[in-house]
Amino acid sequence: MTKSPPSLIVAIDGPSGVGKSTVARRLAKQLEVPYLDTGAMYRAVGLKALQERLDPADQISLEPMLEGLDVRLQRASDGAFHVLLDGEDVEQHIRTEKVGAAASAVATHRQVRQQMVTLQRRCAEQLGGVLEGRDIGTQVFPDTPYKFFLDAKPEVRYRRRYLQLQEQGRDISYDQVVEEVSERDRRDRGREDSPLTFDQTYTLVDATDLTVDEVVAEMVLQIRQR
Ligand code: C5P
Repeated sequence: MTKSPPSLIVAIDGPSGVGKSTVARRLAKQLEVPYLDTGAMYRAVGLKALQERLDPADQISLEPMLEGLDVRLQRASDGAFHVLLDGEDVEQHIRTEKVGAAASAVATHRQVRQQMVTLQRRCAEQLGGVLEGRDIGTQVFPDTPYKFFLDAKPEVRYRRRYLQLQEQGRDISYDQVVEEVSERDRRDRGREDSPLTFDQTYTLVDATDLTVDEVVAEMVLQIRQR
């Protein structure tokens, strides 16, 4: 594929454990635009709340922390944006289910969302990008013609997330994964500000019986056809 214009913005939204990150990273490489995992940004805010021993679900107690919140994005050599919290790359600390739960709680806070969306727009407007999250096509870049809602059967998503955590050496049972992922989905779909949803402007991709390569190929095809 020829080099894409800087304004190429692809939105990939969908629930937890569906494989958005793997797909988005590969698609970004193929399209030669940056990859931005917006969930990592909410995870960094969740981590900060845990570090400060705050209850991530208590919106009032988060407010002083938000005043001095230092979340930034830095382009890495692999083309992806990495999230810096207080100037440090926090990738190694944000992948636990505990931080995921904290992320989903802080992500219901309007001010948190505004700060993260501003950063996401600033980065992708300049360079284009494949952005994955929950609200990219509904709130962050609603005008992009390239919107995908990636979904899969819940059992497939639970298993995927369980295997991922096993690979990382995390001590967590399958039942715990089911409970935590379904609770996070419930919260992400049910929140008032920017819930996880899609409309007719999206292309729906069901990854239940597809490989990562097949999902990426389907997306490239759709993008080329537009
Ligand atoms: O995608 P990931 O599982 O890393 O996201 C962690 C949490 O961050 C999600 O459960 C969701 O609550 C929040 N999130 C969000 N909006 C996004 C991306 C993630 O609210 N665009």
